[in-house]
Amino acid sequence: MRRKKGNNVINLQDSNLRLLLELLYAKSCMTRQDMAEATGLSASGISKLVGFLLDKGLVVEEAFISRRKGRRAISLRLNGDSVYAVGVRLARNYLTCGLFNFSGEILYSIHREIETKQLTETTQLLSELIGATLKEAERINAPVYGIGVSAPGPLFPYDGRLVLITDYPEWQGFSVKKFCEENFGLRTILEHDANVSVLAEKWFGGGKDCDQLIYVVADRGVGAGVYTNGYVHTGSQNIAGEIGHTTIKYDGEKCECGNRGCLELYSSSTAVLKEARQIWEAERPSGWSEQMTIDKLAQLAQAGCEHARQLLTKAGNFLGIGLANLLTTYNPEKIIVGDEMTRAGDIWFSAVKNAVKERALPEVYANTKIEVSQLEIEPAFLGTGLLVLRLVVENVSSISTFNNVSS
Ligand SMILES: [Zn+2]
Repeated sequence: MRRKKGNNVINLQDSNLRLLLELLYAKSCMTRQDMAEATGLSASGISKLVGFLLDKGLVVEEAFISRRKGRRAISLRLNGDSVYAVGVRLARNYLTCGLFNFSGEILYSIHREIETKQLTETTQLLSELIGATLKEAERINAPVYGIGVSAPGPLFPYDGRLVLITDYPEWQGFSVKKFCEENFGLRTILEHDANVSVLAEKWFGGGKDCDQLIYVVADRGVGAGVYTNGYVHTGSQNIAGEIGHTTIKYDGEKCECGNRGCLELYSSSTAVLKEARQIWEAERPSGWSEQMTIDKLAQLAQAGCEHARQLLTKAGNFLGIGLANLLTTYNPEKIIVGDEMTRAGDIWFSAVKNAVKERALPEVYANTKIEVSQLEIEPAFLGTGLLVLRLVVENVSSISTFNNVSS
């Protein structure tokens, strides 16, 4: 995801190829003329690039009757069967694994809960689920280019290593990349769940038309994926966007990361459920139980329970402070919030937006959309296939011909 320096002819061809493929992800099918209009490239340039993609087997032609001109025209679409990816979402409490085709469609998926915090359980499940997915790929004769994994951060993609997952000390330092490459012999990319989610929203979700987009993971931890002009902004060590570990209370409690008063200590579902337990132990409010969930709290708040309403409003307010900081730091067109906390419903989300409104510059707030993710498939899973497919797109000129089953 790192921006290449320099613009020699080969890099220029790669970036133009990437542009055409991204357009096809967004629009499904386009004529050569549509592509020329959308990119500003010349007709002969588009023909040359399309010819290259056709030769590689990554796109196919389809005849249709043009509504604009009333005659036969040729459109292009991605060849879903050309190359495949295995995608894995490694969350704190579950694993989901799937087989993605080049169009980003999920052909097969398998899900398991993670019962303990022990690393051995996680590695066994990784082996089992990826193994089952590769077996399915073999059964349908699908060539797999690599494995994409999303996990909570902070993490280092260069060696595919988890750096800190709060509350999961055994996972610290585990190289998912090394484990997968040694066990399955496939190139593996590990990426922060927020960075994967922002890609999924950009290519398939509410961020299709945005060049400046942020996705905020509001889950057991909190993080942000920052997409700007074609790239995910990672910083020099992939820590950019780790808003969960930025201070919102300078003298607040100590966090596992070493900092104090971190945003996720006040706005994650872990924080909310921890406080819910304290409320239960102290006051036993009616309708509550020992094992609370975000859904249950949302239902109680909606039904008028003051304890639940206050708890969700407070958590929303804290997250809103984090979002106001994002608005000023990155000035996005849109922030999409997703994952477990979004189940807290309207009471929580109104508190999020109110806090941003109170704290951001009024004109900046007025021109920034803040939405809850509408994707039906969780973006931190949906985007894992894209991690690998993006690698195909970025290196398209140096990769030999793909599985050309277009005929
Ligand atoms: Zn922290």
